Amino acid sequence: MSPPNTFTFDNSYATELEGFYAPCRGEQAPEPKIVQLNRELAAELLLDADALETEIGASIFAGSEAPEGAAPLAQAYAGHQFGGFSPQLGDGRALLIGELIDRHGMRRDLHLKGSGRTPFSRRGDGKAVLGPVLREYVIGEAMHTLGVSTTRALAAVTTGEQIMREGLEPGAVLARVASSHLRVGTFQYFAAREETEKVRQLADYAIRRHFPELEDASDRYLGLFRGVRDRQASLVAHWLSVGFVHGVMNTDNMAISGETLDYGPCAFIDRYDPKAVFSSIDSHGRYAYGNQPAIAQWNLARLVETLLPLIDPDDSERAIQLATAELEAFPSIYQGHWLERMSAKLGLGHAGEGDLDLAKDLLDAMDGQHVDFTMMFRRLADGLRGDVEPARAIFDDQAVLDPWLKRWFARMALEDGTAGERAAAMDRVNPVYIPRNHLVQAALDAATNGDLEPFEKLLAVLQRPFERREGLAEYEDRAPEDFGPYVTFCGT
Ligand code: AMP
Ligand code: MG
Repeated sequence: MSPPNTFTFDNSYATELEGFYAPCRGEQAPEPKIVQLNRELAAELLLDADALETEIGASIFAGSEAPEGAAPLAQAYAGHQFGGFSPQLGDGRALLIGELIDRHGMRRDLHLKGSGRTPFSRRGDGKAVLGPVLREYVIGEAMHTLGVSTTRALAAVTTGEQIMREGLEPGAVLARVASSHLRVGTFQYFAAREETEKVRQLADYAIRRHFPELEDASDRYLGLFRGVRDRQASLVAHWLSVGFVHGVMNTDNMAISGETLDYGPCAFIDRYDPKAVFSSIDSHGRYAYGNQPAIAQWNLARLVETLLPLIDPDDSERAIQLATAELEAFPSIYQGHWLERMSAKLGLGHAGEGDLDLAKDLLDAMDGQHVDFTMMFRRLADGLRGDVEPARAIFDDQAVLDPWLKRWFARMALEDGTAGERAAAMDRVNPVYIPRNHLVQAALDAATNGDLEPFEKLLAVLQRPFERREGLAEYEDRAPEDFGPYVTFCGT
């Protein structure tokens, strides 16, 4: 059996960045089987889904077989993990298979996670298991349909192996697509080794791939930093606006492209709580919901440090001054994006004076009141349609919302359009359906026991998050009381 000739690879990383990776093959999986194939994404990548939904397709997605034109490799990177620097991480259980040019002419990485050991595996087994693979699949798709910039799953396969974690679990591989896998940690790997020319080579590559408008700019490396900073500011503001907690914002998990990368111990908040943490190992709340903007800036500081010798090779003082000014602009750029998102959530056409306080004061009122973040904004729209009781009812103390509601109605009176139109605009940006933790967990548990139906149903519901449909009430409900606090795990 030969691989279907369905991939047209165009491998820039392999050809332009020799020395930045180790060529590597996937391990042989005993019995690869496709669990889920993303046909919509396959079409976007100009791939023949029918040819992929085959034994040979399963074997390609498991990493057992490299399709023609592929140049499988493990990328080198370093990273700050929970603030401590690891000079050598790299793809310990992942492979970049090759790059595809999609229907829109965009370059996309095809990457496998869980395909076996690589030269970067250290003590790890190079494997992944089904639950976490499907978590990345469903959360990534939910983020995509919410409009958040993200890598996406093309396929999930089981390998036929049983892998030791807490107990024995089905081995699995995630085939994912990203606009690149360049990370802050990729720059750190070469900067830590004082290989300035390699940092330059990488920066030039990143500019060509993600910021081609900078190619002829005289301050192109500072421009690269500005570009990454702006994309991260926008991304993290978007995360907060939908209640997303990444959970492990190490610098090796922050993409230069501005896509959400590496779904490990991630989750969506239910009740609003800036301190919300789900990861089993984040006991100090470093990566808590409300701490994410500050951590993004911290990570960006690590990135710009690697670029200092390029920003001004002759005058390091000047390089530091320039870099610091750009870095210090992050909070206000972030706040601009956040205000834009929050204004839309609150039904405001444009943010004006006082709107930042209006948005912040709503969140302050919600804090400590066990208010479901997602429900709140749909219920505010209902308030605009004439019934404020559902919004008041989700506060422990219903009177807490009243002074804020008064201000909001006064502000809404200044908006164009009817109340019905404003409410409809709110419903277009405030989801009904998010991947609620209890639903995700139930879907992953069932899938691990061989029943894919809850997973597929959840995936289908999340395809249209803003549109309430008949018969799906359980998908918008909060977790039952006995679900308890939710805990997620890294590196599983
Ligand atoms: P992550 O927490 O998934 O972002 O991974 C952090 C680092 O650990 C990366 O270098 C991974 O490649 C590596 N890693 C995680 N799990 C494994 C594993 N099971 N085997 C080998 N390397 C791993
Ligand atoms: Mg990672």
